[in-house]
Amino acid sequence: MIRYGDDLILIDNGSGMNFQPTAGKLAHNLRTMGVTPEQITKVVFTHAHPDHSGATTASNGKLLYPNAEYYVSQTEWDFWTDKQFETRRPSALHGFAKGAQRDLFAIGERITLVREGDEIVPGMSIVSTPGHTPGHVSVEIRGRDNLLITGDACTNDTIFFARPDWHFGFDTDAEVALASRQVLLDRAAAEKLKLLGYHWTYPGVGYAERRGDAYDFVAV
Ligand SMILES: [Zn+2]
Repeated sequence: MIRYGDDLILIDNGSGMNFQPTAGKLAHNLRTMGVTPEQITKVVFTHAHPDHSGATTASNGKLLYPNAEYYVSQTEWDFWTDKQFETRRPSALHGFAKGAQRDLFAIGERITLVREGDEIVPGMSIVSTPGHTPGHVSVEIRGRDNLLITGDACTNDTIFFARPDWHFGFDTDAEVALASRQVLLDRAAAEKLKLLGYHWTYPGVGYAERRGDAYDFVAV
């Protein structure tokens, strides 16, 4: 959660109860900080996979963050909401599409479709990092201490810093994802840019330091 003025902004809302009994605690954890779901003003999706947008609705189908504006990339929206999805895309993706459509259609009028360079609030902008899903984006925060929230653009800190040339089985377009990952890590190393990855070793924040053709993950 990021505070900006009166805005309380979530980057993804997590899996909800769709995966395992230890998951689905985000709203509860926010409450322990004194923040109710009604107070969240913006939710930015890196992509519409179930572990990132899966907590959009509660079990009753109502929005869990009912007063938020939601931001998803135009490409991501177009991909998952394609009416011919099941005839055009492999069956391995059909279950993902059902979940993405449930989440995206639930948002309705509250959605804003974004693309590379769009600002959510001043200093927070969308960086296109496609491949994991076709419309996957990262979120860049600029200030005294810059941060790139990478979602699943570089899904595993142990593997993909050491082997940025390897493919990941859950990337929808493996070659595009690989290219995005290499651009991201190259830039992060050159700019000493702080990175946040959602599937990285807790707390998932660190730097990429170049080592030959690969990188060391240096935790903050
Ligand atoms: Zn994920």
